[in-house]
Amino acid sequence: MHADAPVVDRHARPLGVLRLSLTGRCNLACPYCCPDGDEPPGLLSLEAQLAVVRAACGLGAQTLRLTGGEPLLSDRLWPLLETIAAARVDAADPIHALQQVTLTTNGVLLTPQRAGQLKALGVARLTVSLDAAEPEAAAQMAGLQGGASAGERLLVQVTAALDAAVQAGFDPALGQLKLNSVIQRGHNDDQLIPLAALARDRGIELRLIEYMDVGNRNGWSSEQVLPAAEMVKRLQARWPLEPEGRADHATASRWRYRDGGGVLGTIASISEPFCGDCNRLRITADGQAFTCLFAAEGVDLKPWLTPVVDRDGLFKTMAALWQQRGDRYSELRAQVGNGSSHAEMAYLGG
Ligand code: SF4
Repeated sequence: MHADAPVVDRHARPLGVLRLSLTGRCNLACPYCCPDGDEPPGLLSLEAQLAVVRAACGLGAQTLRLTGGEPLLSDRLWPLLETIAAARVDAADPIHALQQVTLTTNGVLLTPQRAGQLKALGVARLTVSLDAAEPEAAAQMAGLQGGASAGERLLVQVTAALDAAVQAGFDPALGQLKLNSVIQRGHNDDQLIPLAALARDRGIELRLIEYMDVGNRNGWSSEQVLPAAEMVKRLQARWPLEPEGRADHATASRWRYRDGGGVLGTIASISEPFCGDCNRLRITADGQAFTCLFAAEGVDLKPWLTPVVDRDGLFKTMAALWQQRGDRYSELRAQVGNGSSHAEMAYLGG
């Protein structure tokens, strides 16, 4: 199934990125995310996952981002990547239209062997999440018991994961390896410089994410948001930065270190919302389609996925869902945010 022209939503935004969550489980418990311990019931089969990827490609999606919870925990990851790799070279398969497959991980399970497998199976870019570069703060931001020693272990695992990714051929200079950090005022904003130093030392683009009111469990308040402009100002005091702006459909605004120390990104959903060209569709591990990170409910795609895949019905349902899309939550947060319910971050896949 293929649309004659890429479908657009009510704000003329195309569907460009499918974020597919493989699991609701995670091996960390970051307080701003509060993952469920268990999987949602009714996990999609491999065939169903492939069907939603094919439908999204037919509707114009060119990027597939695999998320979780923690996607490396999912036993569906490898067969999915193997099948997608084969489909990408088959001109008759809608997946042939995929430009890139990317993956977001917390790095804890990213061994040299897995990094090599991801590269070999066609994953183009990896994003590793780490919210502190010092042990105590690392443990606190990952929701780990055991204080500094647990944090130290996490830092060793994640920095080894970054090195393994580079060894496997994910080149930071080409943007193939990035580091994401959620910054929460009063919790880890003292980690801005240490995180930037860690990323600069490895030539990796650090992307600083404003603390967001995702889900309903993290006790979000605007007082705990450190605006991107303030983050940049603090880093500017240490390393002068040159603005490079935000690319179309991108989430990050980028800055270049004047001293040649690489690139920094800021993802400012609160202070500088980017809904205007948001081209992201999220599908959860159990087949719910969400047109916005802050939506309360998704559309259940399982009637077209189980017991057998109805490709035509699925395609039409996803096309209609996108064409009716009007989400601009971050732009309207001040008007609609207070008290509104949202799906949980780990369930949605960020
Ligand atoms: S708030 Fe929703 S519409 Fe706006 S950028 Fe985020 S996901 Fe897109």
